Amino acid sequence: MYRSIVLYNYFIYYHVVLQKKLKYKYKLYCHIFKAICNRNFMSSKVQYINTIGDVEFVKSSRSRSVRITVKPNEGVKVTMPTYVLYSNAFRFVEEKKDWIRSSLEKMKALEQTTTVFKPETNFATRFHKLEFIHKPEQKLSAKVGKGFIQISFPTEDILLSVEGQDIIKKAIEFALRKEAKEFLPPRVNELATKFNLTYSQLFLKNLKSRWGSCSHVDNINLNIHLMRLPNHLIDYVILHELTHIVHKNHGPKFWQTLENLSGNARLFAKEMKMYRTRVY
Ligand SMILES: [Zn+2]
Repeated sequence: MYRSIVLYNYFIYYHVVLQKKLKYKYKLYCHIFKAICNRNFMSSKVQYINTIGDVEFVKSSRSRSVRITVKPNEGVKVTMPTYVLYSNAFRFVEEKKDWIRSSLEKMKALEQTTTVFKPETNFATRFHKLEFIHKPEQKLSAKVGKGFIQISFPTEDILLSVEGQDIIKKAIEFALRKEAKEFLPPRVNELATKFNLTYSQLFLKNLKSRWGSCSHVDNINLNIHLMRLPNHLIDYVILHELTHIVHKNHGPKFWQTLENLSGNARLFAKEMKMYRTRVY
């Protein structure tokens, strides 16, 4: 778990250790519990918080501290260790209200940058151009061919419906996967060879919130949405995952190595903030 990438760039992240004393008191208890039941034990509840709205509170046996996340299209979520009382977590959210509200505003602005696909929309992936054809007698359908994503639609209402937009996004993601298969494996290979790093296997996935991750056996997972990023940021994410082969955390040594490999880790991390895995 600790090896998986947490690119703090794509969602605003807050992390605070609550009630250290309580934590130690229950630590031993939790270890015994986990040894018996070596899987993630979860329960959750949704609570309305005044001036914020619905907040999802998730108790997880894997959680070590109370953590608030605000993500586009997902809202506010609080993950917490099983031993923390809900009432304490509610109080914690009350204390962080200002931060949550400003994060929600930023997220809403971001959600509005999501493209609504209409016949006049100009959109292309790296190697595929989106095209619309009005076919009144036919159902809405999508076809991905060499260099194009063709959307046939009977009416504009159907095209703009949730289902219609979903079909278009699926077609775009199909094209992104095709591009990722062609582009990413040779690039990962090149960079790994250049820096003398050995990974096990490479998997390409349509991940919800991560650009990539590196497993404990050095398998590298990359998000197909990386294809929407410029080359130097694709390289930056690949190098981030390759660095995890040497450092299994995000400690100072990890960042120093990544800085050496990428040339300007801090700048690239900042640039990554302009992109979201699910917003395009
Ligand atoms: Zn990482």
